[in-house]
Amino acid sequence: MKHLSIIFICFTLIFCAQSRAETILAVGDDNGALELAHWLYYTPAKKADSIDSVKDLHSRSWQRLTPAYNNRIGVEAFWVKFSIYNAKKIPIDRILSLANPHIDLIHLYHMVNGEMNDRVIMGESLPFSQRPIINNHFIYPFQLEPGDLHTFYLKIETEGSASLPLSLSSPKTFAKNIESSSLTNGFQLGALTAIGLFSLFIAISSRSFSYSYYSGYVLSVTLLVATLHGFAFRFLWPQWPLLQKYMIPFLIPSAIFFVLLFTEKVLQLKYHNLGMLRLCRYGAAFAVILALVTPFLNYSLSLYINIITVLIVTTLLMVMAIIQAFKGHKLAKLYTLAWSGMLIGSFVTSAMYLGLIELPVSYLTPLMLGLLFEIIFMAAVLAIRYNDERIAKLKTQQEAVIQAQRSRETRVHALRIEAQSNENLEQMVQERTLELEVALRELNEANQKLTEKATIDGLTGVKNRAAFDKRLLAEGRLSRRQQTPMALLMLDIDNFKSINDNYGHLAGDQTLRLIAQILKEQLKRPGDLVSRFGGEEFAIILPNTGEEGAMQVAELIRQTISELSIRWKESSISLTISIGVSAEIIDTEQDPTQLLDQADKALYRAKNEGRNRVMVYTESL
Ligand code: GH3
Ligand code: MG
Ligand code: MG
Repeated sequence: MKHLSIIFICFTLIFCAQSRAETILAVGDDNGALELAHWLYYTPAKKADSIDSVKDLHSRSWQRLTPAYNNRIGVEAFWVKFSIYNAKKIPIDRILSLANPHIDLIHLYHMVNGEMNDRVIMGESLPFSQRPIINNHFIYPFQLEPGDLHTFYLKIETEGSASLPLSLSSPKTFAKNIESSSLTNGFQLGALTAIGLFSLFIAISSRSFSYSYYSGYVLSVTLLVATLHGFAFRFLWPQWPLLQKYMIPFLIPSAIFFVLLFTEKVLQLKYHNLGMLRLCRYGAAFAVILALVTPFLNYSLSLYINIITVLIVTTLLMVMAIIQAFKGHKLAKLYTLAWSGMLIGSFVTSAMYLGLIELPVSYLTPLMLGLLFEIIFMAAVLAIRYNDERIAKLKTQQEAVIQAQRSRETRVHALRIEAQSNENLEQMVQERTLELEVALRELNEANQKLTEKATIDGLTGVKNRAAFDKRLLAEGRLSRRQQTPMALLMLDIDNFKSINDNYGHLAGDQTLRLIAQILKEQLKRPGDLVSRFGGEEFAIILPNTGEEGAMQVAELIRQTISELSIRWKESSISLTISIGVSAEIIDTEQDPTQLLDQADKALYRAKNEGRNRVMVYTESL
């Protein structure tokens, strides 16, 4: 009976609804979550702005809501309505949930049997704390008394996607679903955050660019996912609803920026393909511009730009990875596999978001699955790359060690050779120096001998005329400085010509040698000098000797020679000499020659006086 009445009511309602081109949902004691998609009707808000006018609209103004209408971005404000009926005899508690956290503003009007029961304003553009129930989604709990007809009018205003995943569930089911979705989301976000932070730490500790980009990518994607799910608004910036508007257009280009640079590193484009490298870098620069500009553009426009960029970049990266994979690069193959997960996911989600396809899952689910697959797989790719690099570095290091060892050995060898050659050189230099010293000494001796020889008269062996002149000058200076007298003896052999004539020149020469010998013997002081003045004339310098002393020496010489008998062959030769003496203290520079002149004059006198005598120079001469 009870069942019959319910069926009857349902039929009636359906009939009524048909007549108004509207269906009314009969709520029973089902425990699942009812998707309201098939019970929703819409009308653009420009037809009726207030609840009063919208309520009175003719049923023809309402049309069934299809995803093609509202799943787009940038839908103008519109009204949605649906009616539900408690088909049971007991009150039923229900929770209305709108699982799109990005609707900017929702005016919810709850009518019971045509009377206004409640009105609520919710939306992403309001601080989080203003929500009737704290949840990422928009939640409205209410009670249905038996037989009551509840009609909901929702005015939807949003710049992003106006997708309306409305559902009705019992508190029990709602709690169960919340728990499982929290678990899934928590797992997803937890995994992403963990991978992001882990790679960030690796990036910091290893200073690896690829890990830095990867962590930048994962962290910006994590934040993006948290924002899309409404977690970021709920936990990170609940007081700044405005930030919601900026975060998505900022985070999408950030993720693009990092993924481009990361790809460049993983595919090692620097070594394999410079064209692709340039493409990645220009793309990254473009992403920076997008990140800086699109948050300030019209929200719908910025979302369009970013979504299209995501489609282009993901396709581009896939194409690049496939080309590199075909060229045989191992990492490119793995990258292609990882990226294909992401590509499929993001394509499905983008298509759903743009209203191109319809699937019985949340529009974020394919992206999330693809993303998770891609990020986990990419971590593995990165680890392989890191390991490859480590092995290559190790190999290079080993080679460098061997090279260093080799160069050290070469250096040691070269040093040894150098030391050896230095030693040889030193020895050679020593030998040469010794030889040189000997040669120098010999040269010196020869020089000395030569110099001495130059001062000696060849025939007699006493000093020659040049030596005499030099000495006369020196002694003259000494006498003048010290004011001591010096004496000069001029000797001439008497009638020497006759010796030559009688006994021959050889006898004359022998006589000259003997006389010289005697003169040397007679002079005792070391300073005295005998010299051959020329022909058979001798000159004697007696330094520091006065007239008297000079006379004595001269006399002694004269006497010794006069007593001499020279043996020549069978005969004996006797001879005499005449001596002129001059002695005084030298006063002027010319004096020594004057002294010579005076001695000569005295000699001349001695000759004139009859030879074989000593004459002293006096003024009267
Ligand atoms: P006096 O001096 O007593 O007037 O007579 P003198 O015969 O010595 O005369 P004079 O001084 O004019 O002659 C010098 C001679 O000495 C001339 C030359 O034949 C000789 N005579 C000069 N030099 C040498 C020499 O080197 N060797 C020899 N054998 N004779 C020399
Ligand atoms: Mg003479
Ligand atoms: Mg003579």
